[in-house]
Amino acid sequence: MLHQIKGIHHVTALASSPRANNLFFTETLGLRRVKKTVNFDAPDVYHLYYGDALGTPGTAMTYFPFPNATRGRPGTGEVGETVFSVPGGSLPAWRARLDAAGVAKLAQDSRFGDDRLTFVGPDGERLALVVHDDPRMPWTDTVAPDTAIRGFHSATLTLADVGPMAELLAFMGYDAVARNGTLHRFALPGSGNQARTIDLDLRPDLPRADQGAGSVHHIAFAVENRARQLEVREALADAGYRVTPPIDRDYFMAIYFRTPGGVLFEIATDEPGFDRDEDRAHLGEALKLPSQHEHLRRKLERVLEPLD
Ligand code: ZN
Repeated sequence: MLHQIKGIHHVTALASSPRANNLFFTETLGLRRVKKTVNFDAPDVYHLYYGDALGTPGTAMTYFPFPNATRGRPGTGEVGETVFSVPGGSLPAWRARLDAAGVAKLAQDSRFGDDRLTFVGPDGERLALVVHDDPRMPWTDTVAPDTAIRGFHSATLTLADVGPMAELLAFMGYDAVARNGTLHRFALPGSGNQARTIDLDLRPDLPRADQGAGSVHHIAFAVENRARQLEVREALADAGYRVTPPIDRDYFMAIYFRTPGGVLFEIATDEPGFDRDEDRAHLGEALKLPSQHEHLRRKLERVLEPLD
C-alpha cells in the first residue's frame, strides 16, 4: 500500500467560454486566478488555474475552455461533483451570493452529517460547498475571510461499479470510512492536506458519461516531489496499471493512468508550484506559455479571447 499520496492536488475540467469561466471562479466563487497559460497539446486553448493565493495543491481548480464546446453528458466513469470546503455558518451568505449571481440549481443537502450547498457552474458542472473545519488560509480579495473557500474538500466519482475503484483507493492509502445509500466514502488517514476525502457514487442506472464542456477531464492526487512520484509510478505499474512516464507541466510533474471505472487519474508533484515563473503578487495576470509554444506568442495573443 502506498503512503506517498497526500490528497487531491488539482481537478481539471472542460469549459466553453473562457470569460464566463474566469468570471465565475474569480468573482462568484472568489478564488484567485493563479495562472493563465495554454493547453500543452492545443496551445490555442487556455489552461486557467484558480485556487488560494498560490494555487497550493489541494486548492487548484483548472479548466480548458474550448469556446465552442458542446456540453458533456453526466454519467458514470467521471468525477461527477467537485466539493470545496467553507467555514461553519457561511452557507446562508453563500446561498445569497450565488443566488444574486444567478447561479443555477442551487440546493441544500447534507452528506455524512455535513451541511452542503450544491449548484452548477456556467457549463453545468456540478459543484458543492461543504461546511468543514479547515485551517487553510483562503484567498480573500473577493469573498470575506469568514466565508471564503478554503480549498477542495472532496470529489465524488460516479461509477457503474465500486469494487475495482475501492481496491485502487485502498492501494493508494485511502480508508473506507462511511457508507450511505449509493455513496461510499474514502479518506486518507492523518491530517496534512485537507482535501483528503473521495466519495464514490455507485450509479449503475446512469449511462456512461460523454465528455464535453462542464465535464471533469481528470483528477490529480498530490505527492511531495519527483522521488515520491517515481515510487508511486513503480508501485502502480507493478500492480498492473498502465502509467505514463513523468511529464513536465511547468508547475508540477505529472503521471497519468486510466482507472478501472474509466476516470483518468493523475499523480502530481507539489513542486515547483505556480510562483516559479511569476511574482507572487502578480500570479495569473500575464499569459505564460510553455517554452515549446513561446514562438507562437504573437498569434496566441491575437486568438485567445481576453479574460478581463
Ligand atoms: Zn492535471
